[in-house]
Amino acid sequence: MRELISQGLEEMGLAGRVPADAAQTLDRYGRLLLERNQVMNLTAIREPDQVARLHMLDCAAVLNCVETEGRRLIDVGTGAGFPGMVLKVLSPALDVTLLDSLNKRLDWLDQVAGQLALDGVRTVHGRAEEQGLDPAFREQFDLATSRAVAELRLLCELCLPFVKVGGAMAAMKAVDCDQELSQAAGAIRLLGGQVERLYDYAIPGTDVRHRVVLIRKVGPTPKGYPRRWAKIQKAPL
Ligand code: SAM
Repeated sequence: MRELISQGLEEMGLAGRVPADAAQTLDRYGRLLLERNQVMNLTAIREPDQVARLHMLDCAAVLNCVETEGRRLIDVGTGAGFPGMVLKVLSPALDVTLLDSLNKRLDWLDQVAGQLALDGVRTVHGRAEEQGLDPAFREQFDLATSRAVAELRLLCELCLPFVKVGGAMAAMKAVDCDQELSQAAGAIRLLGGQVERLYDYAIPGTDVRHRVVLIRKVGPTPKGYPRRWAKIQKAPL
């Protein structure tokens, strides 16, 4: 895994921007993931090279379209730490909150942060639509990331409330998400966002093409959002 990650970071133009031992640390993270995956459902990807590409390098791509240095980030629906934990390894000065509604995975992520000697990683057990109403979380983050959690118009309601005005949300999507994007236009506007950039990339060593949808927070999220999950699903914005 280490060699593939190292080569991939180079190919993505990230090698000079990440710590010298980043590939080694991500390799350790990948091994811990595969080891724990034998007893806990963390990922459907079971092959080390694929973990390197489809988890580590895929998540690393976010670094090519956001400023992370010294920023405060929340990863919504982090699962086994993607992309939040990868971004923390690549950008150690980032303050990272990993949010998920499943506590078992968060306990494991706490252990991983200790084993990888990462400071400034906090795990929070909760539902995004509830946490986003809490003043300790609402509009407190420079950046909200999310991968494989919900379609974009629902995801905006889960993520944008966390973001400070001037900050951004980075949603990791497939390149063919144009319809999702146009369906989300109303939600983005209503919640205080504005699409700033679509960053399309190929994951090194694969023919997989993904897209980061970067949404800038240009105004506050109105009171009353996020709504309850049943409502978000039943009546998307
Ligand atoms: N982001 C990770 C990745 O890309 O590998 C995990 C993706 S997994 C398919 C979706 C994760 O989102 C699950 O861990 C689930 O518990 C979490 N999740 C879904 N809805 C959520 C919500 N409303 N609030 C918090 N977590 C949520």
